[in-house]
Amino acid sequence: MQLLAWYDQNKRPLPWRLDQASLRDPYRTWVSEVMLQQTLIPVVIPAYQRFLKKFPDVFALSLATEDELRPLVKGLGYYRRFGMLQRAAKIIAGVSPPGKPLWPENQDAWKVLPGIGEYTSAAIGSIAFGIPVPVIDGNVERVLCRLADIRQAPNLPELKPRYRQMITKMLGNPIATARPGDFNQAMMELGQRICTPKSPDCGACPISAKCASRKAKSQHLAPAPKIRPAYEEVRLQMIIGLRRGLDGKREVALFRRGSKSKFLKGSRGFWYGETRDLPSGTENVGSFRHSITKHKITADVQILEMKPATKKSCKISAWTKESPDWVPAGVVENELISNLDVKAWRLVTRRLQP
Ligand code: SF4
Repeated sequence: MQLLAWYDQNKRPLPWRLDQASLRDPYRTWVSEVMLQQTLIPVVIPAYQRFLKKFPDVFALSLATEDELRPLVKGLGYYRRFGMLQRAAKIIAGVSPPGKPLWPENQDAWKVLPGIGEYTSAAIGSIAFGIPVPVIDGNVERVLCRLADIRQAPNLPELKPRYRQMITKMLGNPIATARPGDFNQAMMELGQRICTPKSPDCGACPISAKCASRKAKSQHLAPAPKIRPAYEEVRLQMIIGLRRGLDGKREVALFRRGSKSKFLKGSRGFWYGETRDLPSGTENVGSFRHSITKHKITADVQILEMKPATKKSCKISAWTKESPDWVPAGVVENELISNLDVKAWRLVTRRLQP
């Protein structure tokens, strides 16, 4: 099969693939697939390596605390998926004898675990267990649209059965059936590197002979642009409480966001709200734009200088119910997981510089 020959010659040497060459470890496949769900490969690579160093197996991950986990996945976004990964690790470790993980036996059993859906279960099943199930992501959808010259939006739900039918037929080739994990990765990599959205490199494509779009010279029409969800504009006020600590150095107020927070539930960061009512004494240091899922946020950043620390705990203002953790200003950026908080903090540091 030409696709697999191309893949063997051209695949990227990604760390999780090198791992799989020496040992077929479902844990490593699972961690890499969860990281890749929402994040680009160059950002995932260093995060994957530090994650595996700290949590080399499912048992180590099952014992992780949130404070250990968060810094390791900093910058990847959408923390919720890692909370679910840890919960699922706990379930697997809980039913396994020491040191011998009992992995779910099939795709349906994987899907029972928190955070694992159709895509991830198929990726783990095919890559780590050699089960011939197709993996269909956005890149694969684009390749399939071009192969069949489908000139519709690729994310139309009615196209899903057609994609499944097409790729199942391709996966039925005996060479692909023998290497389903490589077949799936080859299709995804072809979409990422050769059959790109704007300028497909058809001359380098291993499946060009079967491509209807190429024949019709309609690569720019197939697929049509995606249907985008409607975005919701949100205006947030972010308030960064500052004070002098007992040692005279500057400290910053960080809050643990509760389960009812609109954004970034469970993360630690600055206070935010949709209020227009600001406490007296706040000073605006600027605004920035940020997107979280379908929300387009405009955040106004305010600093609020508080009285110097005493031994008693101190709320940053009467309108916050919770007391913050006061963190030394020099290390606060390391504590921030979300880019929403990092962007706000950068505005503050610009203002605080002499
Ligand atoms: S021939 Fe071109 S358009 Fe067709 S699948 Fe290959 S890269 Fe994509």
